[in-house]
Amino acid sequence: MAKSGTQLQWPEIAGVISDLDGVVYRGNAAIADAIEAFKSWQRAKLPFCFVTNNSTHTPEDVVRKVGGFGLSISPRQVVTSAITAAALIRAQYPKLTRAFVIGAPSLAKAIEEAGLEVTDAKPEVVVMGLDRQITHDKLRIAAAAILGGAVFIGTNPDLLLPTADGFEPGAGAMITAVAAATQVQPLIVGKPETHMIEAALSRLGTPRQSTLMIGDQIQTDIQAGKRAGLPAVLVTTGVPPRKDAALLPADFTVSSLSEIAVKAGVDTVRQRRA
Ligand SMILES: [Mg+2]
Repeated sequence: MAKSGTQLQWPEIAGVISDLDGVVYRGNAAIADAIEAFKSWQRAKLPFCFVTNNSTHTPEDVVRKVGGFGLSISPRQVVTSAITAAALIRAQYPKLTRAFVIGAPSLAKAIEEAGLEVTDAKPEVVVMGLDRQITHDKLRIAAAAILGGAVFIGTNPDLLLPTADGFEPGAGAMITAVAAATQVQPLIVGKPETHMIEAALSRLGTPRQSTLMIGDQIQTDIQAGKRAGLPAVLVTTGVPPRKDAALLPADFTVSSLSEIAVKAGVDTVRQRRA
């Protein structure tokens, strides 16, 4: 059972990996305590990196958004499922050159920047993320390519996304449709898989056992953090936690990031750099 409250025994913290939506902001509204916490960690030179399943924003979009809340970060501090999908294709399928993309312009941009041509002509890999302009024609091209042997990659498994007035289908719902049609299971990039956590860890260069994973969803953030071997903190500012005995529990539960004590880790970071 996760411990909660201020009596927590925090591990030595050398770095932080954090989710964005529901942790740093809700929609377009900042979560003030979280912004203050990240600003204080920044002053203390505690390295941190954000990881988001959202493939419809570039790292630069995120930099602008949190900058508007008074937190100044660099694009290197943002790992998106789009960027990670592109890196994964380069690493695991270096010979592929033609990709069909169903997703936002940010996803196509990430795939192009990884050196692939985005095309519907003989694609060797199909990459699917959230596409609010999805059509039957796009689904047809994707299914035909996958049935013809193209690699099938999904940016994230989220089935449902919260909106200002309810919910909308997430990328996972459309990815599931293509998987059902083709009977081919995609390689999923986003949380709860660990690809983005590993990408963030390699950017931070911090040991995993002293890098905190912070998130508001047990089924994605906490599973990804725990599977990657990180101590995981559930913050109750986002999606209400769902009880599911099959899921790995968080190590800590907080109602505000101000409850996270980082002093020991900060001293360590300073000593190491001194
Ligand atoms: Mg979240």
